Amino acid sequence: MIPVTTFEGRKVAVFGLAGSGLATASALFSGGADVVGFDDQPERVAYAAQAGIPTADLREIDWSRVAALVLAPGVPLTHPAPHWSVGLARSHAVEVIGDIELFCRERRAHAPQAPFVAVTGTNGKSTTTALIAHLLASAGRDAQLGGNIGTAILSLALPRAGRTHVVECSSYQIDLAPTLDPSVGVLLNLSEDHLDRHGTMENYAAIKERLVAGVQDGGTAVVGVDDNLCQAIADRLERSGRKVVRVSVRRPLPDGIYVEAEQIMLAAGGTAKPAALLGGIGSLRGRHNAQNAACATAAALALGLDLKAIQNGLWSFPGLAHRMEEVGRKGNVLFVNDSKATNADSSAQALACFSDMFWILGGKPKTGGIASLAGFFPRIRKAYLIGQAAEEFAATLDGKVAYEMAGTLDKATEMAARDAEASGLANAVVLLSPACASFDQFKNFEVRGDTFRKLVKALPGMADKGASPA
Ligand code: ADP
Repeated sequence: MIPVTTFEGRKVAVFGLAGSGLATASALFSGGADVVGFDDQPERVAYAAQAGIPTADLREIDWSRVAALVLAPGVPLTHPAPHWSVGLARSHAVEVIGDIELFCRERRAHAPQAPFVAVTGTNGKSTTTALIAHLLASAGRDAQLGGNIGTAILSLALPRAGRTHVVECSSYQIDLAPTLDPSVGVLLNLSEDHLDRHGTMENYAAIKERLVAGVQDGGTAVVGVDDNLCQAIADRLERSGRKVVRVSVRRPLPDGIYVEAEQIMLAAGGTAKPAALLGGIGSLRGRHNAQNAACATAAALALGLDLKAIQNGLWSFPGLAHRMEEVGRKGNVLFVNDSKATNADSSAQALACFSDMFWILGGKPKTGGIASLAGFFPRIRKAYLIGQAAEEFAATLDGKVAYEMAGTLDKATEMAARDAEASGLANAVVLLSPACASFDQFKNFEVRGDTFRKLVKALPGMADKGASPA
């Protein structure tokens, strides 16, 4: 845990006492702050009180004595409407911040030279954050992985020289970190998402830009320049004198890092040399993962890793669960769990990676359905439909792709495994990439993916994970 000492002896209100909020309250408490925690759910307040955190209804405290309101990242700061605790803080001119801001202040106070990588973007944040931490750890460095990806940032080890914090930041968290100043900032991409929370695309992009604009002096901003918004951000950063490493998976760049024919290239002054190979790495298939890997490579280079260490780390990256995760192989059939694909855009990334697919999809449908995926239909040998979306998806597939109404995931897995095996195809893939939310049949996408993994492992004659990537 990182005790937060920068509020020692001062009163701090913490709203939101689930997971990371509780970790924040404990970190402030251990650092000597006069903490008062609260939550709209009485059970959470009771739980925190039991854990030794002082609690009180924030509507009843004396706000004139409060130095800061610390919000858990899930609590609305602006959209659709500020939470009532934010209204109270603002009316008393109390600053509203989050746990990443507390980390930044702590680092500046005690270990300003400690390497700190912050990663954001619309897609690929978790994969890239985990990959950067993996590249560092496999090169023998002390890497602390956390933030939006899992462990709350204040539950990690103390920042110090020789130890790198690698932290995934959602826009919500950036919004609550006004002095975010990583030594390496990574902005992967920007597309429309989460507008419910940030109002307009301009506002959303401006929040994400802050992560790279705030990079500390002497640090590096890594920016994926394959969309117009990020391209404009890279230009602005460069004009303001920041060190920017541009990354593209769509075109060669005169300066920066780009990917061509599964090769990561390092370019400077119009000359390029190969940096690392992505071909054959099962955990990094697809152009979207090439973007993640190229940005991770840029970050690792900025942190002083050499190309050999980076290549070794890329080769040994196990990948993240539920994102095109290889969960088994039986003869020529590879089983892939892409349960995280809860919309058509995400499924498109997986469908682009394989040629002979037995595709399990469906669940709670999203607007637009799967019509946008029609370009991939010729590569689908058969589809297995589950959940509420089955009828609607059947109508889209009808006459174009063979399908069966499987209803449930266990039936679908059994049917797809049977057909894939019988197909005799050399590189058959049973792919769970639902293009739907999971809530009609599962608690969340993780439970859906875990269920699929178990079903696959229980198939007769199953070998452990795929040994030879396609
Ligand atoms: P995030 O943490 O931003 O949600 P993840 O790394 O968890 O991203 O990946 C989630 C899904 O987003 C993946 O399953 C894939 O479909 C898609 N994805 C991953 N990386 C990218 C990328 N660089 N560009 C576009 N889509 C991506």
